[in-house]
Amino acid sequence: MPHAVSLLRAARLARSAKPFLARGGFKRERCAGCRLLPSHCMCAIRPSVATRAGVCLIMADIEPLKPTNTGWLVADVVADTFAFGWARTEVDPALLALLNDPQWQPYVVFPGQYAAPERVVQGVEQPAMHGDAAAKRPLFILFDATWAEARKMFRRSPYLDRLPVLSLRPEQITQYKLRNSGRDDHFCTSEVAAMCMNLAGEGAAGKTLEAYLPVFSHHYLRAKNQQPVDWAGAEHLRLREVVSSQDS
Ligand SMILES: [Zn+2]
Repeated sequence: MPHAVSLLRAARLARSAKPFLARGGFKRERCAGCRLLPSHCMCAIRPSVATRAGVCLIMADIEPLKPTNTGWLVADVVADTFAFGWARTEVDPALLALLNDPQWQPYVVFPGQYAAPERVVQGVEQPAMHGDAAAKRPLFILFDATWAEARKMFRRSPYLDRLPVLSLRPEQITQYKLRNSGRDDHFCTSEVAAMCMNLAGEGAAGKTLEAYLPVFSHHYLRAKNQQPVDWAGAEHLRLREVVSSQDS
């Protein structure tokens, strides 16, 4: 079954009057499972990890249509990924229902300096360690958007105001960068999701997301440059290593 981001993309495509052509994107046929050219399809290696934590992507209008959107990768790896389009004037009742579902403890993932101090938390409860089966599952709310859009979405979504704001600490960010030769201070959605998973004690999902993004980038760039996929390259080796270490 198509995942949440795939469904949102299909719905958004159906609503657009003219076919969306991403700048720098390719206009040829794409695989419905991974958005890549069939020659560069990576559906066969899509990893999936069982997690207790979930992800709720709130996506800027055009985001599901971008060929480089990485919320898609989060939905590939984390089965309990939900995705909603954002609009200033309305909110999807299904999103409100999700936020009110007692099995979840939602966290809005956003830099703490933009929120009232009493809302800010720097970690998530990990009741699994205490064997408390009745405890709530963490649900990470991520804005899948540009930074400017994300700030607007954070400010203008009153239904999120009652929720705690999870602010990633500099040392978590530094740790991530050390492992993944990070470039600058801007992280894409799948990188933020990886950090959240690590924080929630979901190391397998975190590592998988960390290894999956470079594989996607490789396939995407090779397709764009009309070069074949290097299935024995460092990106694929790393992902295979991570996936097989979870099997054993
Ligand atoms: Zn595919």
